Amino acid sequence: MTQSSTLMPTSSPDVAAVVARVRRAFDSGRTKPYAWREAQLRALRSLVVDHESEIASALESDLGKSAVESWLTETGLVVSEIDHTLKNLRRWLAPRRVPVPLRVLPAKAQIVREPLGVVLVIAPWNYPVLLTLTPLVGALAAGNAVVVKPSEVAPAASAVLARLLGRHLDPEAVHVVEGAVPETTALLAERFDHIFYTGNSAVGRIVLEAAARHLTPVTLELGGKSPTFVDDGVDLEATAQRIVWGKFTNAGQTCVAPDYVLATRHTLDALKPWLVKAIRDSYGDEPSGSPDYGRIVNSRHLERLSGLIDPAQVVTGGDSNPSTRYLAPTVLDGVSFDDPVMAEEIFGPVLPLVEVSGVDEAIEVVNRRDKPLALYVFTSSPDTRRRFVRDTSSGAVGVNIPLAHLAVPDLPFGGVGMSGMGAYHGEFSVELFSHAKAVLRQPLRPDSTVVVRPPITAAKRRLIDRLVFPGSRRR
Ligand code: NAD
Repeated sequence: MTQSSTLMPTSSPDVAAVVARVRRAFDSGRTKPYAWREAQLRALRSLVVDHESEIASALESDLGKSAVESWLTETGLVVSEIDHTLKNLRRWLAPRRVPVPLRVLPAKAQIVREPLGVVLVIAPWNYPVLLTLTPLVGALAAGNAVVVKPSEVAPAASAVLARLLGRHLDPEAVHVVEGAVPETTALLAERFDHIFYTGNSAVGRIVLEAAARHLTPVTLELGGKSPTFVDDGVDLEATAQRIVWGKFTNAGQTCVAPDYVLATRHTLDALKPWLVKAIRDSYGDEPSGSPDYGRIVNSRHLERLSGLIDPAQVVTGGDSNPSTRYLAPTVLDGVSFDDPVMAEEIFGPVLPLVEVSGVDEAIEVVNRRDKPLALYVFTSSPDTRRRFVRDTSSGAVGVNIPLAHLAVPDLPFGGVGMSGMGAYHGEFSVELFSHAKAVLRQPLRPDSTVVVRPPITAAKRRLIDRLVFPGSRRR
């Protein structure tokens, strides 16, 4: 539930002062040394591990997450991202030599990674800890100063992050601004060197427009409907278990949750009882009593989701309890692309089953719609797998497994087209939050410009042809 009153928003003039202070810290050079970056990452790691239960309580209060789910899908992932970064950071940051063509010799060429400056991280409510801290890990590893704006829609997580980050990280260079639209609007009026935004595409546009005024580069981690194709002949019991896990974790409020299932009528009919069984196996006969089943973040979203459920289509679930923000794990069948549930990203525990005639139509359907953040294919056919990877475009493809690609730190995580721009995690984060600076070094003698410097004599012209772009005129 949104409880803005529990927040202590930073007022607009303060926002300008905060950004100025953080910029001074960056300009002082304190964030550049490897030792500072390492110290911040270690401090962040201890913060998460030492305060795991405090963080879990906040997530319980905002989203009804169990402590195990909080560790599995938020805090544990942050710790593993930090460990992976600490293990590899020196290597990722090392200047990289690149070959120099003959025309520029004698010389040495290097790519040197430098921090961008002051980064703004704007986070959403659905994984409020993971999606605030994972970009922060990358921004700190790359040597930036950072202003962090957690989501007001998850107020307990926002408060705990503000308190802990303020206490454990370098207060000059890292600052949390809590608050909602006014505070974010005030922040967006300031100049940053990079803005990292996770959330819906409507606000993504606002962020991009605001950034354009300062020509600030932006990463947009957006959402969309992630399709899930279930092939004929696949093991439906295992498939159902995985879809149910991927869909109903965090009560479906996951940007990469399977949004809807595409399959032939024959396969849908065979899959339905397995889905019902997998829901019962995971959450019992009465999911409202399961400690492992989350809650909808607020009553506005609960109403929105309830409005998407056509009782005539319900296979299982459909019931809700507004007083506890509970919405049952729900499966709908006989859904068509014209139904409201297929218009926008569902972002809740409602799984529509949509009939297609086979692989060809499924690919056609995916390509007709916005490019998704994730696409899932359950198949035992290498040909079907290859076709989806080759013939569709999405942020990621999961073959026989939803969600888990985000836990592989060497894979880029991000969208394409309407699902976002830019990708992060691991080395991709360090690339994202730094500038790859080209450094070319030549000795002053011998004089490498003698051939190209006027006057261009006939002899020089012959040398230019032979040395500067050798073979270029060959057809
Ligand atoms: P949200 O409501 O928490 O908004 C995100 C952030 O934008 C918040 O910090 C909020 O304060 C700020 N904001 C809201 N309105 C604003 C405005 N008018 N001006 C400036 N800032 C504003 O979260 P949400 O958007 O509901 O998040 C859900 C969406 O995010 C879904 O579409 C989901 O798919 C997507 N998402 C994507 C990823 C990803 O990694 N790609 C991860 C999680 C969620």
